[in-house]
Amino acid sequence: MEAQKIFVDYLKQNDLKNTPERMVILQEVMKLDKHFEAEVLFEHIKSINIKVSRASIYRTLDLLVQCDLVNRINFDNTCFYYETTMNKSSHDHFICTECGKIIEFYYSEIEKIHKNITDKFELDISEYSHQIYGKCKDCKQKKSLK
Ligand SMILES: [Zn+2]
Ligand SMILES: [Zn+2]
Repeated sequence: MEAQKIFVDYLKQNDLKNTPERMVILQEVMKLDKHFEAEVLFEHIKSINIKVSRASIYRTLDLLVQCDLVNRINFDNTCFYYETTMNKSSHDHFICTECGKIIEFYYSEIEKIHKNITDKFELDISEYSHQIYGKCKDCKQKKSLK
């Protein structure tokens, strides 16, 4: 498993312990193909009868973000969504502030803008985050019905 190798290497390089807990969390994260909250992952791991503390879920997710296996999407600074980066091309997110729905989108124009910015300012972008917040179609309709 490629992700496991990346993670194990990362732990080794950073003098962090490779624990069975961390490996289980990684395995379960890789199975989730949607955006998820840390709490959802915690409940999921509990439901398959594996004992993992909430703290180690958060800690391991942080580590997975640091080694680029997982992408963290900021919802409102207190709540985050996570998604795996494996087998996924870059995309951006619209997040509904009413119901929390996430819509993924990709426009090559955005990639082009990045390229223009890197060229113009001679930058090397390692990471970017582009989120749009607002009301989704359903929530917009609900509002106008009131
Ligand atoms: Zn909504
Ligand atoms: Zn996404």
